[in-house]
Amino acid sequence: MRRILTICSFVLASCTVNAPFALAAPGAVRCGKLLDVRSEKMLSDQVVVFDANGTITSAGPAASSSASGASGTIDLSNATCLPGLIDVHTHLTGDPTGNGYQALGISVPREAIIGAKNARRTVYAGFTTVRNVGASGYTDVALRDGIDAGDIEGPRMLVSGPPLGITGGHCDDNLLPFEFHQKAEGVADGPWEARAKVRETVKYGADVIKVCASGGVLSKGDQPGTAQYTFEELQAIAEEAHKLGRKVAAHAHGTQSIKDAIRAGIDSVEHSSLIDDEGIALAKQHGTYLVFDIYNDDFILQEGAKAGMLPESIEKEKKIGRLQRENFRRAFQSGAKMAFGTDAGVYPHGDNARQFAKMVEWGMKPIDAIQAATIRAADLIGWPEKVGALEAGHYADIIAVSGNPLSDVRVLESVKFVIKNGAVVRNDYSAK
Ligand SMILES: [Zn+2]
Repeated sequence: MRRILTICSFVLASCTVNAPFALAAPGAVRCGKLLDVRSEKMLSDQVVVFDANGTITSAGPAASSSASGASGTIDLSNATCLPGLIDVHTHLTGDPTGNGYQALGISVPREAIIGAKNARRTVYAGFTTVRNVGASGYTDVALRDGIDAGDIEGPRMLVSGPPLGITGGHCDDNLLPFEFHQKAEGVADGPWEARAKVRETVKYGADVIKVCASGGVLSKGDQPGTAQYTFEELQAIAEEAHKLGRKVAAHAHGTQSIKDAIRAGIDSVEHSSLIDDEGIALAKQHGTYLVFDIYNDDFILQEGAKAGMLPESIEKEKKIGRLQRENFRRAFQSGAKMAFGTDAGVYPHGDNARQFAKMVEWGMKPIDAIQAATIRAADLIGWPEKVGALEAGHYADIIAVSGNPLSDVRVLESVKFVIKNGAVVRNDYSAK
């Protein structure tokens, strides 16, 4: 392993899939085009230089960079570079095949292995940072730490541990009858029990708190539109989490729960399906991010039954899928803050970028969708100085594609080059 690392640091360009343990190394990338996501400008012939910690030290015109022609500089003259993408709503430890009653046969250790596979797929697809919101047995904490240590390949992760939810709610396990006394790890009823659960998840490694405010699609026996946690409970969770330096992401499809979550001071509303005009106005007033997972509707309706999703789940999706997309457009047009989150795990991991085309179809320009997955997502997760832009001081998380994502956002579905934290994860261009 030491030898692999040594080779990687000298011959960065050739160190691709065979070096799963690669950690940061100094280097530079020369980009034919580079999308400056902040200024919205497509720049020509740029060089991004990074140090041994995998931190960008400079980014600018090749003409003024000493690294331009240096040996070891990776040549991407025919490609377009962008910052590594961010998905703020993933479930890496779950696959679409693990739904409904099929999920009962999957152990916690098995979920961790599934997570290792999906972490690799995700980073290969150009998503170098994810916020994972909901996993059993703290498998997400293990995954995050394993990736950071270089044991396995994957994106930089912020993780929530088990999501908080009410008894019998979206984030409880409701598949088995009473005599099994089955209860999900994150179940907590009442403000004080919920506060204690926040403390417990932080104790075991959570970076962010996930709470299920309303009913959901893939759970048994509830409805997406109905409220689950009360305002009082949500307020207690937000206050406790913020006191401990953690942000809160609330799963909320229902109109009332969305407003309750925003008024309670929660940082992002996930799904946001049935948001109304008052909810959008509240989100703007409070600066709350809205995260609309508008790609996976297609997958649930087409593949959900085969993937073991309950018939009631498919019916629920039929009722809210289109409304969610219409509300996404209304929320965007009214200027609410939006971050890119897909609910990967509901659909196959690695297809995250398919949501860009949906966002464009439903009202965004390509640059808006790309900003949602870079600078806006970085702001939501609290790392605006670290991820989401190719600027000095940021992690060297660089991806490259062929073509121009501003004219065809679908080129992001075929990422060909990925560096995370200064280490090459994938370089399809070097093979030619
Ligand atoms: Zn989710």
